[in-house]
Amino acid sequence: MIIVLKPGATTEQIEHIIDKVKGLGLTPHISRGAERTIIGVIGPEEVLRVTPLEVFPGVENVIPVLAPFRLVSREFKKEDSVIDLGQGVKIGAKEVVVMAGPCTIENLDSLFKIAGQVKKAGANVLRGGAFKPRTSPYSFQGLGKDGLAMLKKVGQELGMVTVSEVMDCRDVGLVADHVDILQIGCRNMQNFNLLKEVAATKKPVLLKRGMASTVKDLLMSAEYILSGGNFSVILCERGIRTFEDSTRNTLDISAVPVVKQLSHLPIIVDPSHAAGRWGWVPALSKAALAAGADGLIIEVHDHPEEAVSDGAQSLIPDKFSILMEQLRQVAGAVGRILP
Ligand code: PEP
Ligand code: MN
Repeated sequence: MIIVLKPGATTEQIEHIIDKVKGLGLTPHISRGAERTIIGVIGPEEVLRVTPLEVFPGVENVIPVLAPFRLVSREFKKEDSVIDLGQGVKIGAKEVVVMAGPCTIENLDSLFKIAGQVKKAGANVLRGGAFKPRTSPYSFQGLGKDGLAMLKKVGQELGMVTVSEVMDCRDVGLVADHVDILQIGCRNMQNFNLLKEVAATKKPVLLKRGMASTVKDLLMSAEYILSGGNFSVILCERGIRTFEDSTRNTLDISAVPVVKQLSHLPIIVDPSHAAGRWGWVPALSKAALAAGADGLIIEVHDHPEEAVSDGAQSLIPDKFSILMEQLRQVAGAVGRILP
C-alpha cells in the first residue's frame, strides 16, 4: 500500500499517520521528495483496507499495491489452472471446450435430439437451463427438478458433461446431484451466499460475469468460491450493459486477455447472450477463440422459432456444425485444438 501525501502535508500530520500505521503492526517507509512525501507500507494489506487512511489530514491518495483477490491471482499461481470436468474433458489446457445446447430444457425428446446434434458437431458439454432467471415473472420459469432429471439422463446416455444454472441456495444440493458443472448466472454473480454454497459442493462452477460488473468484481466473486475451498472455477464473459443497443449486450472481448493476465483460471465466452441474435454468434465465437478464450458456451435449438426462451439467439444445429468447422481453423491458428 502506498500513501501519497498532499504537497503541503505538515510534519505533525505525517507523524500522526506513521503512528497509526505502526499501531496496526505494519512497517512504514517514508520517501521525502522535493514536492511531496510518500509512505510505503509493508505488511498485510487487509488491515489497512478496513482503516480509511484517505480521511487522515494530509493524505491525498491511498494506492493498494496487491490486487484484492489473492487465490485467483497469477501471483498466487503462475501456471494456468486446468479443470477436470469428467468424461475425459478438461478445460484450461490446449484443447478448447465447446458447451452447447438449448437455453431452456423443454422436453426429453427435443433435448436428446439437440444434444445428439451438438455432440456430433464436436461439443462435449451439454447446456440446458432448468431454473431460468427470467426478467418477467410471467415468462416460463423452467422445468426445475424434472428438467434436471432429463439433462442427467441425456448426458449419461450420450457421454456428455452437463451444465445447468442454480439460482437459489436451497437448490444447490439438487442441482449438484444432477449436473457436472454448476452455473452461476450473471444476475447472481454477487449472490455471495450462493457462491459459498456452490464452493462447498467442490464441483466445477461456471461463473458468469454480471451484466454491470467489472472484471475485478468477477474475480472477487471467484475469490469467494476459491476461498471456500473450491478451485474448480471457470469464468465466463457474456456481455455487459453499455450505451450500445444494437446487440443484446456488448461483448467485452478484452475481458479475455485481461483475465488471462490477472488470473490463472480458465475463461470462456458466451456469444449468444452477448449478441442476442444468432447471425452475430459466429463472428463473436471466432473472435473469442482468437482472443485466447478457453472455450465457448453457445445456445442451439432445432426449432428456434418455437423455443420457449432465447430462440432469436439460438443457432440451428446445421449452422452450429458449420461454425464448429470454422472454429477448428481459428483454434489451430492460435495454437489451440478443437477436437
Ligand atoms: C443462460 O446461460 O441461460 C443465462 C441465463 O445466461 P446469463 O446468466 O448470462 O444471462
Ligand atoms: Mn438463454
